[in-house]
Amino acid sequence: MAQQEDVFKKIVSHAKEYGFVFPSSEIYDGLSAVYDYGQNGVELKNNIKRYWWDAMTLLHENIVGIDSAIFMHPTIWKASGHVDAFNDPLIDNRDSKKRYRADVLIEDHLAKFDDKIAKEVAKARKRFGETFDEAMFLQTNQRVLDVKARRDALHERFAKAMNDNDLAELRQIIIDEEIVCPISGTKNWTDVRQFNLMFKTEMGSTADGSMAVYLRPETAQGIFVNYLNVQKTGRMRIPFGIAQIGKAFRNEIVARQFIFRMREFEQMEMQFFVRPGEELKWFAQWKEWRLKWHKALGLGDEKYRYHDHDKLAHYANAATDIEFEMPFGFKEVEGIHSRTNFDLSQHEKFSGKKIQYFDPELNESYTPYVIETSIGVDRMFLSVLCSSYEEQALEGGDTRVVLHLPAPLAPVKCAVMPLVRKDGLPEKAREIVDDLKFDFATHYDEKDSIGKRYRRQDAIGTPYCITVDHQTLEDGTVTLRERDSMEQQRVAIADLHALIHDKVSINGLLRKLR
Ligand code: ATP
Repeated sequence: MAQQEDVFKKIVSHAKEYGFVFPSSEIYDGLSAVYDYGQNGVELKNNIKRYWWDAMTLLHENIVGIDSAIFMHPTIWKASGHVDAFNDPLIDNRDSKKRYRADVLIEDHLAKFDDKIAKEVAKARKRFGETFDEAMFLQTNQRVLDVKARRDALHERFAKAMNDNDLAELRQIIIDEEIVCPISGTKNWTDVRQFNLMFKTEMGSTADGSMAVYLRPETAQGIFVNYLNVQKTGRMRIPFGIAQIGKAFRNEIVARQFIFRMREFEQMEMQFFVRPGEELKWFAQWKEWRLKWHKALGLGDEKYRYHDHDKLAHYANAATDIEFEMPFGFKEVEGIHSRTNFDLSQHEKFSGKKIQYFDPELNESYTPYVIETSIGVDRMFLSVLCSSYEEQALEGGDTRVVLHLPAPLAPVKCAVMPLVRKDGLPEKAREIVDDLKFDFATHYDEKDSIGKRYRRQDAIGTPYCITVDHQTLEDGTVTLRERDSMEQQRVAIADLHALIHDKVSINGLLRKLR
């Protein structure tokens, strides 16, 4: 684990050193849990958004996009339940003065039981070698069964406390399990209190009478309140979806783990409106489609898992997370929720407007049910970055740091390099850039040795380097070097476009989703 933490630290500093992610307001010592994306980060982020947007709006003829404002009428947050219930249970340690989410402390503690079981399995595998039967071991080993029984009992107690909103019980669990503060190492805990995560501000001058408004904590409500507009003007027929990408804001209690938990972040959300009674069928369908979208990136199928929710939000009748294996464990990157007709009904009630759909096939009107898919751009970014980072030992004792980014997401697709800065090679290289740049993000680089230039491109994940040498001037060929294999082949300049396009286009990814 400690080793994994070291790798994570390296990834964070790599992200800064190579212009992916900077701490916000850094020259003023930063702002907690707020980050800026640099010259490479913004490109990677835009590519992730493009992949999601196209997968939603190009591949599904019944999904359209919108872009709603961040500020919304404050009653929307009353109707959605956020004013009353968008809370996290917080607890303070009196000695370290550090604040934690009580639920996260308990979840981390639960994960330790799983670690223990995994360790027993690893030990046994070593002992039994080839003949080891993991399933049998898990069912029969007494130590494993004891740990699992304790884990399950605690899990049940925790889920009940969360469902009942029982803050005293959450504290009692922390006391009974002897959970200590990771900083002070003590059990000197305060009571558990609820904390609302919404940022509030004022709109309009005080002379006019200002109004309290919120920075939206999710983009979904902007979709719900535009349901009628889109359905009517787009003449949409159920089932149909509305997709949106935009900023969301949450005053997170504990902001840790880099861009995993931020106070300002970006979401990609899609609300899919269906007939009442058909929601669970669509829920299953979207679970499958969304996992396929993730897996098409090729980061490793074993890095994903579903996690079904124990505590369903007040509006949901089914919910699953897609978790990704980060250096600090499996963590949620996307939520898929069956939200019933809760949101539309609430807006109907609070706005006094009729929000219904007339179904011509059934010849009746109803309030549509909703399946939501909600993914954080920044968490997606982090999962791509973490699984792509590698410190590689090369032949001859050399090392390189390489980002094996999925080529369609890479910030720069190819770098063109003259072998030397004379003899007309720079001019020839510029010519190639001037052609490729219309289709691909292309860099020109002539500084330092060719080896150093390759390393620089490896470090930002550029899939291809094109080297122009003296032979180029004679026969119109260049060296095309591939990032992961470092293999080089001699290709005609005229073939470059097709060769590169094949690997780096987002279309290629989208076609895998068919
Ligand atoms: P968590 O339990 O980690 O706080 P959540 O269940 O509250 O997350 P949702 O409300 O389902 O998250 O939000 C949908 C998605 O938005 C999440 O899967 C995640 O990718 C992203 N997200 C939520 N909160 C944050 C945050 N503070 N920083 C970055 N991304 C976030």
